[in-house]
Amino acid sequence: MQFIRKSFSRKLALTYGLLFLLVFIGTYFYSSKVIENRVTGQLEESLTVQAKLLRHILTPLLIETNDQSKLGELVRELGKEERVRLTVIDPGGVVLADSEIESEKLGEVENHKMRPEIQEAFTGNIGKSVRYSMTLNTKMLYMAFPTTNDQETVIAVLRLALPLNTVHEMLRDAGHPLLAGSGAGILFVLILSFFLNHSVSKKVTKLTEAAKYYSEGDFTRRVHVSSGDELEILAKAMNQMAFTIKERISEIESERAKFSAILANMAEGVIAIDCSGKILIVNPSAERIFNIQSQDARGRGLIEVIRNKKIDEIMMEAIKVQSLVSTEIEIPQSENKFLKVSALGLSKEEGSVAGILVISDISEIRKLENVRREFVANVSHELRTPLTSIKGFIETLLGGALSDGERSKEFLKMMEEDTARLTRLIDDLLELSKIESKEADLKTELLVLSQEMEKVILAFELQFKEKKIYFENRISENQTIKVFANRDGLKQVLVNLIDNAIKYNKENGKIFIWAEQKKKDIEIFVEDTGCGIPEGAIARVFERFYRVDRARSRGLGGTGLGLSIVKHIVEAHGGKVSCQSELGKGSVFSFTLPVA
Ligand code: ADP
Repeated sequence: MQFIRKSFSRKLALTYGLLFLLVFIGTYFYSSKVIENRVTGQLEESLTVQAKLLRHILTPLLIETNDQSKLGELVRELGKEERVRLTVIDPGGVVLADSEIESEKLGEVENHKMRPEIQEAFTGNIGKSVRYSMTLNTKMLYMAFPTTNDQETVIAVLRLALPLNTVHEMLRDAGHPLLAGSGAGILFVLILSFFLNHSVSKKVTKLTEAAKYYSEGDFTRRVHVSSGDELEILAKAMNQMAFTIKERISEIESERAKFSAILANMAEGVIAIDCSGKILIVNPSAERIFNIQSQDARGRGLIEVIRNKKIDEIMMEAIKVQSLVSTEIEIPQSENKFLKVSALGLSKEEGSVAGILVISDISEIRKLENVRREFVANVSHELRTPLTSIKGFIETLLGGALSDGERSKEFLKMMEEDTARLTRLIDDLLELSKIESKEADLKTELLVLSQEMEKVILAFELQFKEKKIYFENRISENQTIKVFANRDGLKQVLVNLIDNAIKYNKENGKIFIWAEQKKKDIEIFVEDTGCGIPEGAIARVFERFYRVDRARSRGLGGTGLGLSIVKHIVEAHGGKVSCQSELGKGSVFSFTLPVA
């Protein structure tokens, strides 16, 4: 900055000095010329007056006598008196007399006929010439006057010459003080301009410093100049400019931050590409979907990064037609992964965003759609079976069996069974949907496990007796186990598990119930010595409508929904269900609940 200030003020001072010097030189030469012209004019006037006088003295001598030595003497005398060089030349150009040359030496003087002032004088006018005299080694003013006789014939020319060095000396004498004055003037101008420039350059430096900060991106700086001139206007304009730019930048930054936040938090994957198909932006969801890294993907071709021809094709198509093109695709690499891809063509101009891909992972939606479809098919099937059976009985009765009292009673009993099955099925379906809708706000309370268990067991007493099943409830020994659970939910789970343990048990079979306390939860076990479940089916028994032996389950009044209700309730409590079973030997079903 110091450097800039110095050079700026120095430049200004030098400019002023140079200008002053130029003006001075111009003035000096112009005034010299004017003075020279004025002085020469005055000299010419005085020479003309002198010439007139001398002509009066010399003309009679030239006409009457032909005495050259007398003429020479007179000429020398007059020349001395008048302080001019006086020369008399005859019409042939021969010098008759010269105030500066002795008569004897006149013979050596060259003919003056060709001298311009002499030629002019012989035409009857006053001849004038300024030339450099080699003889006297100085610039001379020559004036030639014709001398005529009575017949107006030019008989000789009287030439007066005066060295002009006197004029130049005068000019030189006048020039000295002029030069000294100018020198002082230049010095004064330099000092004055230095002080003036110093204050100007200080302001310019402030402006330059601010401009430098602005160029580096720091728009917080302000310049304060109060000179009341254009520099103050410039400073204000720069401050305003910095303020406006800062505002714009923060607006752009906040817009960009919003844009980035939206992009980063979008569930959909977003990829933007340019005209040449190179990736510009990849958001975190797109990184996840395609298992790519944004920094690796940027600047590379779309197909090269996502390796999917179909997506690349619809993107190119969208750019070509400049509108939205959508499709659903299955990713072959990963199982059951479905994507909905929407490509939007925005521009074909170089340097702009050419197109945007929005990718939604619809795998979960597809899965749910499948589950729902399957469920509807299952429900319809389950409902159709007893309904078809009831319809068959009604047709048989109407067909004449009604008159047969015994048979119709039998049919009605079967119809009652089917109706009971339909009711159970609908009850279970309702129960399932109730659990699903309650899942979000399940009301739990502190329950003593053994007490809840007792209540459930009471309802099964008759069945145990009928099937001659040995039942052992080991939980009743431990009164301290408390769980956080929904009372009805817990009851439903226990009922379903014990019901299955009875249903799929054999006569004289056994059922054991016990609980184990884990770190944060209690695991409750229901073990039976029944038919067991084949290994491949164990994982599926909790699915809706799944039954190992469809006919057996139906015969026992099963709906295929009992275990899926158990699973739903337990998971709604944050617990887990599991099953261990050995075909022909028995099964152990267990579930966990959070400990109180
Ligand atoms: P269901 O109404 O058919 O009993 P569940 O959902 O309760 O429906 O059970 C599904 C299937 O799991 C049953 O059909 C049965 O094949 C098998 N299962 C359930 N509990 C037992 C058990 N304790 N022993 C053997 N198999 C069982």
